[in-house]
Amino acid sequence: MKREECFQGLCFSGEVEKRRDGIYLEGKLKGKVEVECIRCLSPFLQPVEEEVKFKVVKTPYSGTDGEFDIFEMEKFDLKEILRSEVESIRNDYNICPNCQGREIDLEF
Ligand SMILES: [Zn+2]
Repeated sequence: MKREECFQGLCFSGEVEKRRDGIYLEGKLKGKVEVECIRCLSPFLQPVEEEVKFKVVKTPYSGTDGEFDIFEMEKFDLKEILRSEVESIRNDYNICPNCQGREIDLEF
């Protein structure tokens, strides 16, 4: 089943398939997420575009899956998955274009 859902600038579009051991999502995350630069602390928009494979399982879950990122949740909620992706992008090592430019200047 095709699904598309956006949350805070980040959109998932792809296939959602319910199987016996969970709900499988395969598709693309795309959008712009507002993040904070770790250098100058100013907010900027980080473009995101990546292929993703998620598997949503009921808690508690003890298995692992090499191919899919596991999400444990009581009730399947695509928004909640996007929320946690936005969160992890924000917690990433984000450097704004200005500071990136400065870093290159220093190297030469
Ligand atoms: Zn910066």
